[in-house]
Amino acid sequence: MRNLRFFCCSQVVHGFGCGSKQLGIPIANFPEQVVDSLPADISTGIYYGWASVRSGAIRKMVVSIGWNPHYKDAKNPMETHIIHTFKEDFYGEILNVAIVGYLRPEKNFDFLESLSSAIQGDIEEAKKQLDLPEHLKLKDDSFFQVSKSKIMNGH
Ligand code: ADP
Ligand code: MG
Repeated sequence: MRNLRFFCCSQVVHGFGCGSKQLGIPIANFPEQVVDSLPADISTGIYYGWASVRSGAIRKMVVSIGWNPHYKDAKNPMETHIIHTFKEDFYGEILNVAIVGYLRPEKNFDFLESLSSAIQGDIEEAKKQLDLPEHLKLKDDSFFQVSKSKIMNGH
């Protein structure tokens, strides 16, 4: 499998209240425009990688991409579950995402549905993959450093 290097950052917006948090799987939504920065040929599906909220710790995550050029109106174009328990929500904060690998296709563009049936599998696989040296080193990528210094300088 080829290693991906896809970086993206945007504000976290409110989702459609599909109740993922109630299932113990909060999934942070990106606004629709974010998908315009995706490579045009990216496949929809579930990916894994690294994420940080503002300039905070870089943590493992799984992300769903439910957008492709044929389905530009997908309801949840990009949603991220960070594999960590946060004390508070982070709506309105900048979420930095580095996608490094592909897990599987997504069904029906419904991350919650596919997550609830396969969540432990996805998360365990993401955790394992991200411990590989080639993925671990992505945590030090300048993408995260740049986001950090931008925030510290108030940009
Ligand atoms: P919504 O429908 O508004 O997206 P969710 O139930 O999917 O609501 O919860 C997502 C929100 O939960 C995120 O926007 C974020 O503020 C918060 N959150 C807390 N912990 C996490 C986490 N580990 N991963 C993703 N989002 C989280
Ligand atoms: Mg959500």
